[in-house]
Amino acid sequence: MLIDLHTHSTASDGTDVPGQVVADAAAAGLDVLALTDHDTVAGWPDATDAALGCGVALVRGAELSAQAVFDVDGRDRYVSVHVLSYLHDPSYAPLADECERVRTARLDRARAMVDLLARDYPVDWDEIAAHTDPGATVGRPHLADALVRLGVVPNRSAAFETVLHAGSPYYVPHYAPRAAPTVRRVREAGGVPVFAHPAASARGRTVPDAVIEELADAGLAGLEAYHRDHTPDQVDHLVGLAARLGLFVTGSSDYHGAGKPNRLAENTTAPEVLERIEDMGTLTVIRT
Ligand code: AMP
Ligand code: FE
Ligand code: FE
Ligand code: ZN
Repeated sequence: MLIDLHTHSTASDGTDVPGQVVADAAAAGLDVLALTDHDTVAGWPDATDAALGCGVALVRGAELSAQAVFDVDGRDRYVSVHVLSYLHDPSYAPLADECERVRTARLDRARAMVDLLARDYPVDWDEIAAHTDPGATVGRPHLADALVRLGVVPNRSAAFETVLHAGSPYYVPHYAPRAAPTVRRVREAGGVPVFAHPAASARGRTVPDAVIEELADAGLAGLEAYHRDHTPDQVDHLVGLAARLGLFVTGSSDYHGAGKPNRLAENTTAPEVLERIEDMGTLTVIRT
């Protein structure tokens, strides 16, 4: 049984519509797929229709933007963290409202980055908006695609390594809620919170184990240990930490269609872990 619990569609920064992600999952031989767009559940209906049509079981989820704060030598350090939420009630207002707030902040931030980029590149917000699904969660990948269309960079990854890097002069941060309250809100919404790629240092700073312990106290259920952005040593460490904290571990692709090299099913999750997620979540897994 092949289970991949982290993918993105055009509802956020993937390149395929949700139904196509599900069809791709069937073609890749997956039995179970989770759609986890950034800060939105807008892709759920289309993914559900496709799942019912092609026999892939669908876990409805989202990847929530959050921020951890911890002390380093007497100073606050802020680190961006992603919390996967599975099978939560999307109508739970505190969670839905935070998602909306983040989406709005991301839109303002994308426009601010476009204003900075426009000083040196012929990027145009209207052109980017025309290439973005209405209501989609906007991120740097949408700006990367505009730079690719202009011939500034050959692909998204090249854009992230240069102009869109967090250390670049064109980078602008965006609002995100604190991680522990995010984990608590997921639980209140009947969802299953899992820390996405906790050790992915190539994306920027990561959190110390003490922060993961705090999140476990807040109700975190699992760690996404098996992810292409982790080294084998990091995977071992996360598996050990999860065991110590009573968390389960997942493995997933973080598929973004053509937008990233990540391939569906390149990392997978054990069937026993899916059972725990299903037992804990308030929504059902959609099966034909
Ligand atoms: P943002 O959330 O807008 O700051 O952009 C970060 C998002 O861009 C991540 O969630 C990834 O989905 C995506 N991303 C990060 N690095 C890359 C890369 N090298 N190539 C394509 N997409 C990336
Ligand atoms: Fe993404
Ligand atoms: Fe992520
Ligand atoms: Zn992701």
